[in-house]
Amino acid sequence: MALRTPSSSPSVGHALASWATIALALAVALVPPDLLAAPVPAPAEAVAALPAAPVIRPAPVALRASGPQADDAVAGAERAMPAIARRLKVPVLMYHYVSEVPAAEAGSPGARDLRVPPTFFAQHLEFLRGAGYHTVTAPQLWAALNSRAELPDHPILLTFDDGYADAYQSVMPLLLQYGFTGTFFITVNLVGRPGYVTWDQVRAMSAAGMDIESHAMDHVSMAKRAAASLRSQLADSRRILSERTGTDVRFFAYPAGEYGDEAIAAAAAAGYDGAFLKSGGVLQSPEWAFMLRRRCRRTTRCRSPRS
Ligand SMILES: [Zn+2]
Repeated sequence: MALRTPSSSPSVGHALASWATIALALAVALVPPDLLAAPVPAPAEAVAALPAAPVIRPAPVALRASGPQADDAVAGAERAMPAIARRLKVPVLMYHYVSEVPAAEAGSPGARDLRVPPTFFAQHLEFLRGAGYHTVTAPQLWAALNSRAELPDHPILLTFDDGYADAYQSVMPLLLQYGFTGTFFITVNLVGRPGYVTWDQVRAMSAAGMDIESHAMDHVSMAKRAAASLRSQLADSRRILSERTGTDVRFFAYPAGEYGDEAIAAAAAAGYDGAFLKSGGVLQSPEWAFMLRRRCRRTTRCRSPRS
């Protein structure tokens, strides 16, 4: 036998239905019309099944304040501006050591592959200055690719991987001498080890206008790496470098130039704007955000597995 419920009684059911109608009419009368017009929230499953909506960015705001907080606000507003993608030819040179080959490694091809002597590097800078080049940083390149900023004539990025001690001791003084800036991809767990920069030096470089970006927690390949490890290598290094420098680290260079679809997805999920390869030419595009190109001719031998 079916269970009877109060609403199954015709008289009680009718009374309840009448009260429900009156209550609904009262509710409708009391609710502002614009709220009634709002769409009914879709069930979670339906929302999940919808294709991703385009990101709607707020219009840029005029900023008049000054000081560090205003700088943060300007950076935030620049990121919020509508992006109009474009392709630009901007060489990004990849360096490693700027030092003489140590006597103990004189016979090692690997030691030569990753090095340019300081005198040779100074000649590079002299040539670049004479040819009218202007150095820009990774965030500046990114802003230009998205039409949020203009680049100076003959823009170029000088990048230095791994965080060797000579980055602070030799590279930065020479760059400053020429009025240039550099982008330094730092491997977090190498900082402070013999032959590498210290955190004090990383902070000093950032304070001097050098662009500090991530080269992972450890100098390991980002290809065929487990998801959890990719997350840690990318997200933890970004967080730690951002905390240590007080800047928003948003660019990555794949150790040894090795990456895969999973690494690209993990880099995007970790909040990076882009990532650099170790070769590929000079044409840059935001469509290749996680495959930004570099050149290594006469700055590093790209075939070296340590690059
Ligand atoms: Zn490297």
